[in-house]
Amino acid sequence: MCGRRRPRSPATAPCRESNHLCGQYCALPAGLVWCVPSTDPATLLDRLVRGRTGLVTHVERVPARAGSPAEWPDFVPAATRSVLASLGIDQPWAHQAEAAAAAWAGEHVVVATGTASGKSLAYQLPVLASLGTSTALYLSPTKALAVDQFRALAPFGVAAAVYDGDTPRLERDWLRRHARLILTNPDMLHYGVLPQHARWAGFLRKLRYVVVDECHTYRGVFGSHVAHVLRRLRRLCAKYGASPTFVLASATVSDPAASASRLTGLPVRAVTADGSPRSGMTFALWEPPLLPVSGPVPAQREGGGAGENGAPVRKTALRETSDLLADLVAAGVRTLAFVRSRRGAEIVATMAKRGLDEAGLEFLRDHVAAYRAGYLREERRALEDALRDGRIVGLAATNALELGVDIAGLDSVLLSGYPGTLASLWQQAGRAGRSGKAGQEALCIMIARDDPLDTYLVHHPDALFRRPVEATVLDPQNPYVLAPHLCSAASESPLTTADLELFGTTEDFCDQLLRRRKTGWYWTASHRPEVDLRGTGGEPVAVVESGTGKLLGTVDAGASHTQVHPGAVYLHQGSSYVVDELHLDEGVALVHPEEPDWSTHARDITEIRIVSTRDTVDAGPVRLHLGEVDVTNQVVSYQRRRLASGEVIDERPLDLPERQLSTVAVWYTLAEPPVEAAELPGALHAAEHAAIGLLPLIATCDRWDIGGLSTALHADTELPTVFVYDGHPGGAGFAERAFGTAVSWLTATREAIAACECPAGCPSCVQSPKCGNGNDPLSKSGAIAVLDTILKALPSPDPVPTPT
Ligand SMILES: [Zn+2]
Ligand SMILES: [Zn+2]
Repeated sequence: MCGRRRPRSPATAPCRESNHLCGQYCALPAGLVWCVPSTDPATLLDRLVRGRTGLVTHVERVPARAGSPAEWPDFVPAATRSVLASLGIDQPWAHQAEAAAAAWAGEHVVVATGTASGKSLAYQLPVLASLGTSTALYLSPTKALAVDQFRALAPFGVAAAVYDGDTPRLERDWLRRHARLILTNPDMLHYGVLPQHARWAGFLRKLRYVVVDECHTYRGVFGSHVAHVLRRLRRLCAKYGASPTFVLASATVSDPAASASRLTGLPVRAVTADGSPRSGMTFALWEPPLLPVSGPVPAQREGGGAGENGAPVRKTALRETSDLLADLVAAGVRTLAFVRSRRGAEIVATMAKRGLDEAGLEFLRDHVAAYRAGYLREERRALEDALRDGRIVGLAATNALELGVDIAGLDSVLLSGYPGTLASLWQQAGRAGRSGKAGQEALCIMIARDDPLDTYLVHHPDALFRRPVEATVLDPQNPYVLAPHLCSAASESPLTTADLELFGTTEDFCDQLLRRRKTGWYWTASHRPEVDLRGTGGEPVAVVESGTGKLLGTVDAGASHTQVHPGAVYLHQGSSYVVDELHLDEGVALVHPEEPDWSTHARDITEIRIVSTRDTVDAGPVRLHLGEVDVTNQVVSYQRRRLASGEVIDERPLDLPERQLSTVAVWYTLAEPPVEAAELPGALHAAEHAAIGLLPLIATCDRWDIGGLSTALHADTELPTVFVYDGHPGGAGFAERAFGTAVSWLTATREAIAACECPAGCPSCVQSPKCGNGNDPLSKSGAIAVLDTILKALPSPDPVPTPT
């Protein structure tokens, strides 16, 4: 970058000094505008790679695709066609016509085609054609998406209304009586519609379509809850004589028919052949360099450093992302950087600003911002508008921006780490290059984090580009999820034996929860049954600045021990705070502004007791089990680590209460371990870490959704044992999926460890960011030996086939 300090004074003509990177900005009255022609992605990538030590492990050209148009289905009214024509839609794409026709014929259907393939039209066509005599319900996972859909329907002049927490009471009465199409979310359906179904009788009686948009987001515990909300809806509709057709949509979901069927409890037909055109994209996989353990500080204002146990550490993905973001902003490339955690998004924005300052480009720092869920509504809207009109050129966002917000057509997208699922990956990458400018190609870079899954993926591009997406895992049979919904259902209308099959339950289970009478099971308490739909485990903790009393944001109860313990660094809108006090009873964390150059990482200890065993694979000296366990967990201390290098400064004790979790686990035992007794604990521990890191490859979970424990001698098994458990009460289906696909899962785990070029284990293979033992002991070679022993013994292939 050149060192010019100021952009040109307000100018109306394109800047001519295009050799000066910063000179490419002109301050026009409307704001800062980039005034040189856009650069093609390959050249841009070349420019980014130059002078860096980071490694591009793979470049994938995602080709443009021509669309395959179809005829309008007969049922689409002429009026609808002419509105669509005025919007520039003269013909549907093949998948839209196919799905719409199936739904019109009363078939439950899931449209599983790419981002921006026009899935909305597939359900809009049958819904719009039916509203004269029927009603329809549209469900989205976020408020923003429902509002978006509402706006998209405006030209059709239908009686549609958004029903969410912000809808005023008076308006609710109106929409119950008059709206033909209601756009809402599963939470409102659960809290607002189902318990008062009698007031909604007119709407439910005529309900012909239920649209479930972005259905892949209904996974894990939340997905299991939503599955029951939909079953309760179906039961009440039947009571009023309606039997609605379900139309589901998802950008990408593996085995869409089965997933949609598990969610709705109905047979569902899948439409997967994408007939929409797509612009091309250059997709690069980027691995940050390993930093030398000691020696001179390398170039690029980067501190060298050693991790735990003297292991080499990689330059953090956050650091690499912020450097790339700063460079792209300096080059005038409108860029969205997706960062998985909200803390991470704040860090990336802050460091990108610092990077621009250091390059003498202070005037650009105001054009970089962070965005995450948890911001106040006004703050979020302001940021979205600024990115749209170009006042913001670089935005670091969490996946709060992934769904529903209409920001597209960016020049480039950075993914700081694998976002956890292929569905998210394509959804995020799809934010780039959709502006429809002829020949405009987008650049997307995925920067690997210090993580075995990311390491595996940047070295196995086929797992990203030529693999069907992972299965959406949910488990409606989880008794912790099922029980409150049976109670809710009974409070809405007494349960009968005919309902048992719908909910997949038994008379005994209902007897435990409800009062049995001749006509069925009754909810007899005076209050409503309590259901925690989002499974966050209680009221969120408010983060309050003690000096001013200002509410900065909230943190989920489940995450409060690890995120806002005393001493924790808490980030908000690029500003940094340190937690002084955490009051768990009042649900408040008090903080003060402070900008230390370290981050904090909580440490915990875990114990596991086996309650029962559901299933076992007996492979001689190796045994694999699935069953119920009780987990006891306590956050006991936290580490402080340097922001730039990740180097550990110190570890400080904490005084927080124990927490209990009854859940489902998969575990294996080794009667004849392949390593010496002294090495065994480290070998098992390393194998456990990597296996947890690779589980998201086979199930749509997050590393943070699952936990693990390894021990050279467990009291219940009396053998060396490794546990991997669901981090949610009653389980979320992840351990079950791991058990069913153990060979694929552990094979990928072994390959990820073996592929890492570090000598003796690093965060990219066997170290874990959430280890309760400070990543000690760990044996990388021992882990490979343990996994080889297991894979040799286990019958192959897996009983549950995984996509290959
Ligand atoms: Zn490694
Ligand atoms: Zn550990």
